[in-house]
Amino acid sequence: MKTIGIDLGTANTLIYLKGRGIILREPSVVAVESKTKKVVAVGNEAKLMLGKTPGSITAMHPLKDGVIAEFDGTAAMLNHYFKKVSGSTIFSHPRVMICIPYGVTEVERRAVEDVALAAGAQSVALVEEPKAAALGSGLRVDDPRGSMIVDIGGGTTEVAVLSLGGIVLSKSLRTAGAELDEAITSYIKRKYNILIGETTAELLKKRIGSAHPATDRGAMEVRGRNLLSGLPAVVTIRSGEVREAMQNEVQQIVEVIRNTLENTPPELASDIYDTGIMLSGGGALLAGIDLLISRVTGIRTVVAKNPIDCVAVGIGRYIENGETGGLNYRNK
Ligand code: ADP
Ligand code: MG
Repeated sequence: MKTIGIDLGTANTLIYLKGRGIILREPSVVAVESKTKKVVAVGNEAKLMLGKTPGSITAMHPLKDGVIAEFDGTAAMLNHYFKKVSGSTIFSHPRVMICIPYGVTEVERRAVEDVALAAGAQSVALVEEPKAAALGSGLRVDDPRGSMIVDIGGGTTEVAVLSLGGIVLSKSLRTAGAELDEAITSYIKRKYNILIGETTAELLKKRIGSAHPATDRGAMEVRGRNLLSGLPAVVTIRSGEVREAMQNEVQQIVEVIRNTLENTPPELASDIYDTGIMLSGGGALLAGIDLLISRVTGIRTVVAKNPIDCVAVGIGRYIENGETGGLNYRNK
């Protein structure tokens, strides 16, 4: 029987296949027919439709803030991906290891298991996301030394302190990539009376966004709609403006890290001073975020290699090592 690992993220879904590595990376987006709820597109194809669908079709993110917001949409998306990666029918009913944010409720955990089973999984086990992120970023989580992983995703920022293979302390913040995009949108609306789309806001963040003046990145021309005239409009946005737009949200992210450090037992905190802070998740790619965090905390901060892949790579480590330590599979 095939075992796959799934990083079911708010922004992106990644699938890891035993022996093969990451075999699928797609946005967590589905497009459905509004009336019938029939799925018309999933992943990359659906993401291209965001903000462009006619009234009869809705393109949406079925996960919000790290948890399932639209059960059927999430199940349909996963089912589509199971079929896509299976090729044969033999493992369109895979054994699934799936990550969930550490701080979620029992009901939310249960919903993740249910959704995997509804999508066709034969059995499902949940893996703690911060631990997977830490493993995937190369941290030696089993050492008796404290380490800190900060995963900045699409919907949540998760900070965790690990030692001896376990999570000692963890904090979760529902401010992450999506909130940065929204902050950019509302800034441009306020300042220029121009409404830009979600995809454009994200592009501004990726291309010229920065968290620290030392990583300023020039300017970019974007299109939107002038809210006064109602007509299409073009405006040039500078990197400094994007930084200003995102500053409150970036500040919140830095604060949750500082707050976690303050609550870390002294011996572990002193380990973290030596080992540094590791950043994973797509938000870690924001220019200057590592610099800002290290300036504020005084602790060396590094961005993991391929930060968007860390969680999936970490689940992969569980799968390849046949590690089931503490994992309970629930069957269909
Ligand atoms: P999730 O696990 O919640 O699905 P990911 O770890 O895949 O999230 O990260 C997705 C987030 O990372 C999105 O909000 C995306 O805009 C953001 N992101 C991706 N690349 C960059 C970049 N170069 N700069 C800033 N943010 C980025
Ligand atoms: Mg994630």
